[in-house]
Amino acid sequence: MPFSPDTRHRRIFLKRLRILWFLTIILFLILTARIGQWTLFRRRDYRKLARNNFIHPQCLSAPRGKIFSRDGKPLAVNRMTFSIWISPFRVKRDELHRTVSFLGHHLGRDFSRQEREALTLRPRWRGKIIARNLPIEKVAPILERQFELPGLRVHPDFKRFYPAGSTCAHVIGYLGCISRAEIHGYLKRGYSRDDLVGIGGIERWYEDLLKGTPGREVVQRDARGRYCKTLETQPAIPGQDLYLSLDLDFQKFALNALNERLGVVVVMNPQNGQILALVSSPSYDPNHPAVTTNPTRPISFLNKAIQENYSPASTFKLITAMAGLDSGISPAQKYFCDGYYYLPNWKKPFKCDLVTGHGWLDLRGAIQYSCNIYFYKSVRRIGVLALLQKALEFDYGFPTGIDLPYEVAGSLPLISADSLTPGEVLHLAIGQGMLAVTPLQVLCSYCAFANGGNFVQPHLLLYQKDAERRRKYFTPKTRFIHIKAGNRRAVLEGLIAVVNTPGGTAYKAGFPKEWKVAGKTGTAERASKKTDAWFACFAPYDAPEVAVLVLLESGGFGGRNAAPLAREILKYYFLNRDRLKRR
Ligand SMILES: [Zn+2]
Repeated sequence: MPFSPDTRHRRIFLKRLRILWFLTIILFLILTARIGQWTLFRRRDYRKLARNNFIHPQCLSAPRGKIFSRDGKPLAVNRMTFSIWISPFRVKRDELHRTVSFLGHHLGRDFSRQEREALTLRPRWRGKIIARNLPIEKVAPILERQFELPGLRVHPDFKRFYPAGSTCAHVIGYLGCISRAEIHGYLKRGYSRDDLVGIGGIERWYEDLLKGTPGREVVQRDARGRYCKTLETQPAIPGQDLYLSLDLDFQKFALNALNERLGVVVVMNPQNGQILALVSSPSYDPNHPAVTTNPTRPISFLNKAIQENYSPASTFKLITAMAGLDSGISPAQKYFCDGYYYLPNWKKPFKCDLVTGHGWLDLRGAIQYSCNIYFYKSVRRIGVLALLQKALEFDYGFPTGIDLPYEVAGSLPLISADSLTPGEVLHLAIGQGMLAVTPLQVLCSYCAFANGGNFVQPHLLLYQKDAERRRKYFTPKTRFIHIKAGNRRAVLEGLIAVVNTPGGTAYKAGFPKEWKVAGKTGTAERASKKTDAWFACFAPYDAPEVAVLVLLESGGFGGRNAAPLAREILKYYFLNRDRLKRR
């Protein structure tokens, strides 16, 4: 019986299925054998390979933003240097010792036994910086041999350099290691323990703008920690450049004009709050903050313009005068000065500077001659609260808000106002006693008066410029206090007379009339029987565009010593007016 077509097809199908099975089994056997070979025979080779190479992410430091003066002169820049690190991760201890010995020898540095041990025993993943700020000449020989030195890492870095040296030290500040007290705060913000941060001045205040964003590099290294290749690079973003309102030449001029005397000079534009010069003497070299060139003058990191408390002396009579007028004393009201003022049941009389007395004086005369008796009598009439309220209105007792760190607020005796003795109240009226101010507070109160009551936040930053060269201008805060036009005019006449009328306490300083200067002197008694000399002024008085504050510590008299210095400063201003007004 012949095969039916169905049976024949079935046979062919089964035959093919058998062939397929056969092929599958052979393939499977080949695969199994191959896997077996890999796992059994080459296992060691692969494990070795995996151990030998590891990837190592590391941080790339961002170039810090630069700082420039208003006319683009560099005040803080970066110089390329190198730092050397020891990274013990996966490096044998004896090899690490060898690397450390080589570096010690090459850098001329003796590592003690303990130091070596500490370097090799650190947590294995954490590197330790052992030298920074090295120039390329010093690093080149080390770089040449880096492949023989396990655990060595050389990082390009940026060292901060301050071309103007001590001229702007208190304004710019400098960089330093993070203090123990602040380390936790910085670590939370993504810093590492070895980072340098702004210690004072603009460097500290604008740390967040200046620092930039660090980049990241992933590097492949071999078992001995030696560099193999870079796997991934994410470049660092540089910090923002800052342009300040400060004029470097003016700043230099002001520092030279102080001529080693201790004190403060601040120049400000009252209309926009821009600081043109701010000098606090003695200064220091921010490139070598701990080094003094003159052993007789200790280094002072203190910016006296904002961090030191002083008695404002007669410069405070601006406030006493405004308080008197607002409390109803007429500018034409006259008080008699015979050189002394007697409080009932008070042992000693209170004196005027002119012991023979000024005779009858109205407000203008009282300011012009800086008569104490007039202001004693007016504060007795208005009471201490009216005086303190006026001082508060003019922002005494509060920081001015300048963009610098560590500004102090000064102090007013507000809590104890009710318990002040009549003698203490008289002292307050002439800016002595229980009153503490900073020189910048005094200047700001004169600027606000010059502006007709408009307080503009004093500031140093003009604008910031990011990596794409976009500018962002600083906008100062403003606050307005109401000053009656008539009262302002009355006080202003006194301030003009101080400078421009014979007998005025600053008349002999010789301010040219065409400058239209209005100002006030002050001479504050110190515990040492020496006196601080003050002069605060602004010009031109009909459209004020510049205000100057001079304070000479133990510097004699306001009229005789501080005012002539302010005249030199104003002379410089008017000679360079076009440049200084340009933004
Ligand atoms: Zn007097």
